Amino acid sequence: MLGRMSEAVERERLDVDILFVGAGAATLASVIRLADLCKAQNLEMPAVLVIEKAPEVGGHQLSGAMMDPRGLAELMPDFVAQGFPYHYQCTSDFTWIMTNKRVITSPVTPPPFMNHGNYAISVSDVVKWMATKAEERGIEIYPGFAASKPLFDGNRVIGVQVQDRGVDKDGKPKPNFEAGPEIHAKCVIFAEGTRGNCTKQLIEKLHLEGSNPQAYETGIKEIWRIKPENHVPGRVVHTMGWPQDPTTFGGGWIYDLKDNCVSIGFVSGLDYDNPYTDPHDLMQRWKTHPRMKKLLEGGECIRYGAKTMPVGGYFSFPKLYADGALLIGDSAGTCNGERLKGVHLAIKSGMLAAEALIEAIKKDDFTAPTLSLYERLFNESWLAKEHYKARNFHGSFKYVSKMPRWLGWLRQLPWIINGQALAMITGGRGLVKQVHTHPDHTHMKKLSELSPKEQKKREKVAYDNKYTFDKVTAVALAGSRHEVDQPHHLHIADTNVCATKCAVEYGNPCESFCPAAVYEMMPDDANPGRKRMVIHHENCVHCKTCDVADPYAIITWTTPEGGDGPDYTNM
Ligand SMILES: Cc1cc2nc3c(=O)[nH]c(=O)nc-3n(C[C@H](O)[C@H](O)[C@H](O)COP(=O)(O)OP(=O)(O)OC[C@H]3O[C@@H](n4cnc5c(N)ncnc54)[C@H](O)[C@@H]3O)c2cc1C
Ligand code: SF4
Repeated sequence: MLGRMSEAVERERLDVDILFVGAGAATLASVIRLADLCKAQNLEMPAVLVIEKAPEVGGHQLSGAMMDPRGLAELMPDFVAQGFPYHYQCTSDFTWIMTNKRVITSPVTPPPFMNHGNYAISVSDVVKWMATKAEERGIEIYPGFAASKPLFDGNRVIGVQVQDRGVDKDGKPKPNFEAGPEIHAKCVIFAEGTRGNCTKQLIEKLHLEGSNPQAYETGIKEIWRIKPENHVPGRVVHTMGWPQDPTTFGGGWIYDLKDNCVSIGFVSGLDYDNPYTDPHDLMQRWKTHPRMKKLLEGGECIRYGAKTMPVGGYFSFPKLYADGALLIGDSAGTCNGERLKGVHLAIKSGMLAAEALIEAIKKDDFTAPTLSLYERLFNESWLAKEHYKARNFHGSFKYVSKMPRWLGWLRQLPWIINGQALAMITGGRGLVKQVHTHPDHTHMKKLSELSPKEQKKREKVAYDNKYTFDKVTAVALAGSRHEVDQPHHLHIADTNVCATKCAVEYGNPCESFCPAAVYEMMPDDANPGRKRMVIHHENCVHCKTCDVADPYAIITWTTPEGGDGPDYTNM
């Protein structure tokens, strides 16, 4: 494996009091709250720095997004008057149960899908707007700074190292080489969103894992400009059923946006069992449904993107603090998979972290005992209560794959009964206190275990370039850009496994689960009859699916040069 520059490189060192890694909703809520609390309590504002890997704030944000305003209303009660950018407030909710030809509109909207009064937003726009509010309060934000690893003194977090720039594909410095600085801080707040690369290293080193492993879904999102007569401001639709098979968790959404646009998307749980599962293909297939075609007919797909979201929920929360560190937002797993909502929870976790930080600032003590206040505030808050009510929702889905195949869709009954019906009556419990789960990738079956019907999932939908697009065309709509002459930021521990064991056992599922056609098995001229792995890293849309779904868990997503990645403006 080719790495970046060696440890021997001389690095500049920057010192701040508090460093936030990632400029998402969680961080921006936190720094706004911190500044407001300092002002209200006449405290000197500490030196705060926010770093972000995107070339500009909001550039790597992707979400549905139907936002519950609860968190923002606490942070800024007059948020609408302050220019909060939104499209519409939800006025009508629908739940569609889909078969391959029909749609049955559910007579009742399941409570988690009720959205009346919630806001259709672009999370990228909201984050940009929040950044202006933070900057008005004197907060410094450095975009284009990708943190490659956390820095430790023993078990105490002391900062992060920023990724180098100007390294060629063989790991050698180019004329434009710039060593990434070390940024040292009294406290580092990890707010990298889903499956953060530094957060992952931190959790592993300090054993901060929750009692269940984190679980993920991959969401594919497209924005379409549709015919005005098909556009319904305030409409929110969630779909269930087709084209998902009974053992794969997931469903779709339709949210109308301004300018005759519509946000549509399809999410797939990564605890699926069929190695041919392809989240991009499922999204494309979903659009071939007669009802979806009617919506999109005469329209144009203008944006594409993909991202994972953590959905393990309550039992998957890691320990939220360590000496010199806090975890907030999706890095702490705050997204609520039952409601497909995380923005309000990311905001709330950031605010709670700020409240704990104020006490640490007053004592000038950022050790774990002082920072543990954050976890206490978190557990006492409405954030934890919202999650507690959904604590066995995702975990109960594991029963589906244990049911005999011949039951078809009835296999979902144990999940519906335990994770939804009984959970609703028992305040989230269901039949057992905690449904214990296993990491997503361990659910994947080997090819030899698939039935002929399951083998058919290998066949992809036919791309017509009208409603459906192949991955390479889709990636162009994600605007992804990476310097080609740099080391791959996708590290495969042993590519021999891809060519031998994985090819036979799982049929190289990375070619299916990656929504950006990054992984390709090509004929290996040096070993006739074998294939070799080729990584098109420049396509990567930073969704992190590969880091989660690889059945051998040997793919690690690392940061490319700061500023590289998708362009998710308005997503
Ligand atoms: C497909 C999809 C649909 C969703 N739909 C909804 C919805 O309808 N409603 C809703 O409320 N929520 C929804 N969510 C969830 C919601 O978007 C997230 O929970 C929320 O945005 C998390 O905010 P965050 O600040 O924790 O993380 P993010 O918004 O992901 O921000 C993290 C930031 O950190 C940066 N970063 C990451 N690593 C590094 C690094 N090493 N160095 C520097 N910067 C780094 C990233 O570029 C990013 O800008 C959805 C999520 C997905 C994926
Ligand atoms: S390489 Fe990994 S992170 Fe990049 S787009 Fe593919 S699955 Fe997502």
